[in-house]
Amino acid sequence: MANDCLFCRIVRKEIPATIVAEDAHCIAFRDIHAQAPVHVLVIPRAHVASLNEITDPAVVAQMYTLAAQVVKAENIADSGYRAVINTRDDGGQTVHHLHMHVLGGRRMAWPPG
Ligand code: 5GP
Ligand code: ZN
Repeated sequence: MANDCLFCRIVRKEIPATIVAEDAHCIAFRDIHAQAPVHVLVIPRAHVASLNEITDPAVVAQMYTLAAQVVKAENIADSGYRAVINTRDDGGQTVHHLHMHVLGGRRMAWPPG
């Protein structure tokens, strides 16, 4: 864990967040600047800076496993949703702890901006 990492601090509960689901590997909490009626971030508990730094591919499966739980609990599994991992500068990543955005509750545009 990185001491000064914002999302590590949320994992350690040093910073409050609205946690909607959690398991042994990941936690899911509401994005503070929601871009859709449902906007949840799914993160591994262990610090990984981005998708590029994944050394254990199981981490990705663990994130999708919790995301699948979240979309059911948030009632967007049937209507649909977008699950996206912004990576580094061109991907628009601003927090350097791996996270998956789960967005739903409205129709998404494509292509993304
Ligand atoms: P990124 O831009 O790195 O893909 O996504 C980072 C996300 O984290 C943004 O959507 C931003 O709104 C969210 N975020 C930043 N700081 C906080 C915070 O302190 N709490 C929560 N819940 N979300 C945050
Ligand atoms: Zn971290």
